Amino acid sequence: MSPAPVEADAAQQVLHEVFGYTAFRGRQREIVEHVAAGGDALVLMPTGGGKSLCYQVPAILRHRAGQGVTVVVSPLIALMHDQVGALDEVGVPAAFLNSTLDGDEARRIERELLAGRLVLLYAAPERILTPRFLAMLESLAERDRLALFAIDEAHCVSQWGHDFREEYLGLSALHERFPQVPRMALTATADAHTREDIVARLKLEDARRFVSSFDRPNIRYTIVEKDEPKRQLLRFLRDEHEGDAGIVYCQSRKKVEDTAAWLSDEGIPALPYHAGLDAETRRRHQDRFLREDGLVMVATIAFGMGIDKPDVRFVAHLDLPKNIEAYYQETGRAGRDGLPADAWMTYGLADVVNQRRMIDDGEADEEFKHLQRGKLDALLALAEAHDCRRVRLLGYFGERYGEGDEHAGAVPRLRCGNCDNCLAPPATWDATEAARKALSCVYRFRQQGGQRFGAGHLVDVLRGKQTDKVAQYGHETLSTFGIGADVAETQWRGVLRQLIALGHLRTEGEFNTLELTASAREVLRGEVQLLLRVPAETPRRGRTTRTR
Ligand code: ADP
Ligand code: ZN
Repeated sequence: MSPAPVEADAAQQVLHEVFGYTAFRGRQREIVEHVAAGGDALVLMPTGGGKSLCYQVPAILRHRAGQGVTVVVSPLIALMHDQVGALDEVGVPAAFLNSTLDGDEARRIERELLAGRLVLLYAAPERILTPRFLAMLESLAERDRLALFAIDEAHCVSQWGHDFREEYLGLSALHERFPQVPRMALTATADAHTREDIVARLKLEDARRFVSSFDRPNIRYTIVEKDEPKRQLLRFLRDEHEGDAGIVYCQSRKKVEDTAAWLSDEGIPALPYHAGLDAETRRRHQDRFLREDGLVMVATIAFGMGIDKPDVRFVAHLDLPKNIEAYYQETGRAGRDGLPADAWMTYGLADVVNQRRMIDDGEADEEFKHLQRGKLDALLALAEAHDCRRVRLLGYFGERYGEGDEHAGAVPRLRCGNCDNCLAPPATWDATEAARKALSCVYRFRQQGGQRFGAGHLVDVLRGKQTDKVAQYGHETLSTFGIGADVAETQWRGVLRQLIALGHLRTEGEFNTLELTASAREVLRGEVQLLLRVPAETPRRGRTTRTR
C-alpha cells in the first residue's frame, strides 16, 4: 500500500475542512504551497481575488507543523475586525492588536501569543514596530515560533502608490531583525512602478512573484462625454440601477454634499462621505451603506479602502480620477460578488484642465510632476479611446487581455464584449485637419495681439460665431475665423481634449488659456494623425455662416 500524499493534499484539506471551499481559485494553490514551504512571495491579485486565503491557509499549515504564529500587517482596523471575526467562526485561533483594545485585553492577547496558541495575529504597522512588540517577536523567534510575516496592502509602502503610509516604511526592519522568517507581501495594486517600489522597500528581490490577471470580467466599463453630468447620472441611475447600492465619486467635498442632497431630492437615497465630516457621521454613513440595501454613497476618495461590500452594483465618477491606478482601484469596488456591475464615468474638457492644474500647482518636485502628467495622459487616452476599454486598462498594467493565467496558452484578445466601445462601437472621424486648424488659430491669436484665449473662445472663432469677445478683439478678421464651421461644437471639444491630452496644447493661468507646446509643430506639419470618436450626442445644428 502506498502512503497517501498527505503533503500535497494538506492545503486542499485545510481549504475544504476549515473554510468549506471546494477548490482554490486562480493561483491560490501555487501561492499557498510556496509560502507554506517557507518561500517568500509577492502576491498581486485584484480586489476580490482571494488574497486572504493566500496567507491564512499557510498560517494554519505552518502552525500545525509547530512553526508558530503568522503575523499579519494590516493598515485597517475595520478589516482586522472582520477577518478575525471570520476566522473565529471557522474555529481558527486568531486575534488582533490595535488601538481599540484596552490594556487588559491587549495583555491577554499577548499572553496567548507568547504561549503559541494563536495561528494568526493581526496588527497595524505602528504597533508592530514598538519596542514592546518587537521584544515579543524576538522571544518567539528564539523559540522558532514565528511562522510567517504577511504584509497586506503592501502598496502602502510606496510613495508612488495612491495610499502611502509612512509607518509601512519601517517594515523593512522585520526582515533585518528576523531574516529567517518567511515573508509575503500582498496588494491589489497592479502598476509596475509601485510594484518595483514594494520590492525595493520591503527587500523582496528574491521573493517569488505571483501575478494574477487583473481583469474583472463582470464589470462593464463606460465612459461618456460630459454633457449636463447630473442629468446623465440621474438617467444612468434610473435606467440601470434603480434600487441598487453604489458609489458616486466626486472630487470636492462641496460637490459631494451638493450631489448627495440633490439625489435625495430626486428620490434616490444617498449619503455624503468625505474627510471634512466628523468621525461619528462618517462612521454612521459607512455603517448604513454596508448594512442597508440600495443606498448610494456620494463620496470623495476618502471613502472606499477596505470597504468590503460585495453587492456594490455600480461605481460612478462625476470627476476624473487622478490616474489609471486610481480609476482601477475605485471602480474595482463594484461587483465583488462576481455579479454584473457597472463602472461609469462622465468626463469633459474641464476635467482635463483641472487635473493638469492640480499637478502643475502641486507641491511636488518636477520629476514627480512629470510622472503624474504621464499618468494623467494615460487615463485621458483611456477616456478618449474608441476601442476596447478593458484591453487598454489591462494593457496599462502590462497584461494582455485573454492571456491571463486562467486561460493559459490563450491568445490575446482585442475585444471584451463588455464595455461601451465593444457593445456599441463608436464612429470615428479623422480629426487631423481640424487639429491643425485649431492649433493655427491659437498661433494667430498670439501673432495678432500677443494674447491667449481659452477653449470656449477658440471654438467660437473656429466656428465663425459672432460674439462680443470676437468683436472686442477683432477676431473676425483672422484667417482662421470660421474655418471650422463644419465641425460641431462637441467635436471641437473632443479635438481640444485630445490635443491637451497628447501634450500639443497646454493650458495656463487661472483662465486656462491655451498655449502651443513644442510638439504642436508636428501636428501643424501634418505628421500626427488624429482619429477621434464621434461624440455620442452630437447635435445636428444648422451651420454658422462664414462672414469672411
Ligand atoms: P481580496 O482580499 O483579494 O480582496 P478576499 O480574500 O476578501 O479578497 O476574498 C474575496 C472573497 O472571495 C471572499 O468572500 C472569500 O471568502 C472568497 N474566496 C476566496 N477564495 C475562495 C475560494 N478558493 N473559493 C471560494 N471562495 C473564495
Ligand atoms: Zn471591451
